[in-house]
Order: sequence, then structure tokens, then C-alpha cells
Amino acid sequence: MPELPEVETIRLGLQKYVVGHKILDVEILNPKSFEGSSQQIIDSRISNVKRFGKGLVIELSNNKALAIHVKMTGQLIYRDKSTEKIEIDKTKVGDLPGKHTRVIFHLNRNAILYFNDIRKFGWIRIIEKDKEKDLPFFKNIGPEPPVAKAMEGQAFLTLPKFQKILEGSSMAIKSLIMDQKKIGGIGNIYANDALFDSKISPKRSANKLSEEEGKKLYKSILKVMEKSLRYGGSSENTYVNVLGTKGDYQRHTLVYGKKGEKCLGCGGEIKRIVVGGRGTFYCPFCQH
Ligand SMILES: [Zn+2]
Repeated sequence: MPELPEVETIRLGLQKYVVGHKILDVEILNPKSFEGSSQQIIDSRISNVKRFGKGLVIELSNNKALAIHVKMTGQLIYRDKSTEKIEIDKTKVGDLPGKHTRVIFHLNRNAILYFNDIRKFGWIRIIEKDKEKDLPFFKNIGPEPPVAKAMEGQAFLTLPKFQKILEGSSMAIKSLIMDQKKIGGIGNIYANDALFDSKISPKRSANKLSEEEGKKLYKSILKVMEKSLRYGGSSENTYVNVLGTKGDYQRHTLVYGKKGEKCLGCGGEIKRIVVGGRGTFYCPFCQH
């Protein structure tokens, strides 16, 4: 599932390409992917793009906004004259429009924004501007690691807040940092890599971590997410940016997806276990 670095990369692309465009028409190919009457947004202009955790908000000139969650497999892909030479990754995207295209926004200046979604869990909803917090998903997002440009309305995870979250839970540390209601934006990839980077076992109870370990983990979370942002996110599954091209972090993971490979720290074998129902990669020799 796209995590903070992937969704932030999508946001940066939308900010660059779609802001300033007018919405001329909306083609809804899968009604479940789009909630609201498209008439409410036709002829409005896109003014800003915000992100909260893994959620996106496209603000419009008429005091409406589009709240978006790409969930497991959603893709937002922009095409116009200036981007038509950029080759889309066909293995991830397929044809445009294709059998997984759910919504098509026709924009002025012959531009198009496609919403593709294989699994169909993603959603787009028309909301009143600045009212995203009325939606349960946006309302319940925990503070997020401060790795991207700050936006109005965002709550950030500071080290004292992080320590407090750890103290208050006996959950496995890995499951806790992936709980979106506690901390926004961390999913499986960065939880695995941050725990490896801080040498903490994913199975430890959160409230058993020392203050020093909590501090190390906090720094590691920021470090792996900043690294992923520099690589344009991770495309192990269907994630692509708004130009339809892949991110590169999947080639630079520390332990994620590396079962049986050599640990970068000790040379021992990386193991795969299950923690909280999720596949978990770690080095039993380096992480305690
Ligand atoms: Zn190791």
C-alpha cells in the first residue's frame, strides 16, 4: 500500500501538473470509486493539493474539494501535450484509459487526470473545502512524521509525542507504528526498515522500549522516509507517480522484501515472520 513517501510524491506531482487547470468533465466508470455529483465540480479550477497521512485533498476554486484515498492500488496519472513524451510504465499502469480506469477528469488545455484502481478499494469524494476532517479517515489520522513540507491543518509527530505513544501501549512496536490512528503515514515497508535501522526487534512491546531506543526509532523513521522521498517512493506493487513512472526505493530497502538475503549489518540471514498479521522482515542477530 502506498505510504507517506508515495502519497507525498503523488501530491507533489499533482501540485505541479494539475493546479491551475479547470475541470471540464468527469467520466465515472465505476460509481463506487466516486461519491458526489460531478456537476458540483464541473467548471471549477484546481487551486491546491494537500496531504494528510496517506490521504489527499484536491482543493477547488468553488469551495469544494476532492478527498482521495488511493488505498492498495489506486493511481492518479496526468497526461497532456507536455508529458506525452514521458513513457508510462506499462507493466504498472496498462493502457490509458484501460480496464482498471475508474474515473477520468477531463481538464482544460487538453489535459486528463486518470484514476486507476485494480482492487477498487480506493475512493474519491466531493466535500466542502476545509471539511476533510468530517470524514472518519481524515479525522482519525494520528500525527505524522515531519518529513515533508508542512501544510495547514496537519499534526506532526514530535519526539515527546512519539515517546508518549510508545509508553501508552503494550502492542508489538511494529504494529503500533503502523496504526494510522496513532501515527499517520507509516506502512509495512518503512516500519520494517526503521526497526532494522534502530536495531529494535519488531516483536518488542512498545512500552518496554527504553527512552533511548524510542529516540533511535524516531530518528530511523524520519531517516528511511526521507530516503524514500528522495527515491520518489517505492514501487514494489502498483505504485507510480502522476507521470506513470516508478519510484526507486524498492531497490534500496534495508530488510523489507529481503527474506533469505544477507543482512547489511552482520551478514546473517534476514528472516520473514508474521507480526500483527503482516509479513515482517528482520535480522534476528542485529535486532533485539
Ligand atoms: Zn544483522
